[in-house]
Amino acid sequence: MRRILCSSCANGFNLHPEDERDGWKLRKIEIPVQVPTDGSHRIVIETDQGVVSDTPVPIIVCDTCNDEIPEGTIGVAVTMWRGMEPDNWEDKYTKK
Ligand SMILES: [Zn+2]
Repeated sequence: MRRILCSSCANGFNLHPEDERDGWKLRKIEIPVQVPTDGSHRIVIETDQGVVSDTPVPIIVCDTCNDEIPEGTIGVAVTMWRGMEPDNWEDKYTKK
């Protein structure tokens, strides 16, 4: 699971004790956000009929509160996983 959150939502985001017992791990990295330059930041809406909408998104919004996180300001990239740690994806969302 990958999310980008604003700093205030990220502060309250932690694993539940049951999730930890089930082997879930959490990685939180603060980054100056940017919209990925490769067009991969999209909203895809799927129904039983297939993909009905696949739109590039020009801004980053917090996945919890939906507030915009303006480019270059600090957001928190959150990754949750079990088993193998996922590869770095945060870099694509990090303003250089
Ligand atoms: Zn938020």
